[in-house]
Amino acid sequence: MLIIFDLDDTLIDTSGAITPYKLRKCLEGFVAAGLQLGDFETHLQQLIQINEEASGSKEALREFLLRQGGSSTLLSAALQEMTRPLPAGFVVPTTPHAKEILKICSQKHRVALVTGGHPPFQMEKLEKAGIDRSFFSKIAIPEDSIKKPFYEALLREFSIRPQEVVVCGDRIAMDLAPAHALGCQTVHMRWGRGKKLATEQWVTHSIVELSELTRII
Ligand SMILES: [Mg+2]
Repeated sequence: MLIIFDLDDTLIDTSGAITPYKLRKCLEGFVAAGLQLGDFETHLQQLIQINEEASGSKEALREFLLRQGGSSTLLSAALQEMTRPLPAGFVVPTTPHAKEILKICSQKHRVALVTGGHPPFQMEKLEKAGIDRSFFSKIAIPEDSIKKPFYEALLREFSIRPQEVVVCGDRIAMDLAPAHALGCQTVHMRWGRGKKLATEQWVTHSIVELSELTRII
């Protein structure tokens, strides 16, 4: 069996630990660039709130700037901030039991990581979370977050049938829909934005913690 994991909000607690830090940095950047805001913390809470309802942090930052009458030119600098390296001592927490589960899975099966984003930043998060790269037979980082070609490549590379592949991620459209289209099994990790998403009927399993994978695989 091949188990393909997503990183953000599946193996690591991105929305709990990294996003609030990054949104604060973005807001500091807006202020430094001249955006007139009243109380900083109030606006930070507002931005965090918008982000919780948004489909992604990019959309949240855009919406925030729109509401504050900020120039859209501020957006590109903020987006660069989102993937800038974290401070040296920053600890990225995993989701509960992530390392144990990776260990168990990698002893019996092949494990791969397919995570969308800026490759150096994705690798930094993995490292700061203390997740050993050697758990993964393959790590792929599509910058455009389009995962289907990478799932297909893994199926080919490991000469494995889709029915023997499990894809686990928090985002249905980005992580699971392309896996489902290929005939793979899908596990919806209900963490971060995934907590709020209604699970689709075709999703094979829905979990709130990775430890539940042990009864699935
Ligand atoms: Mg994710």
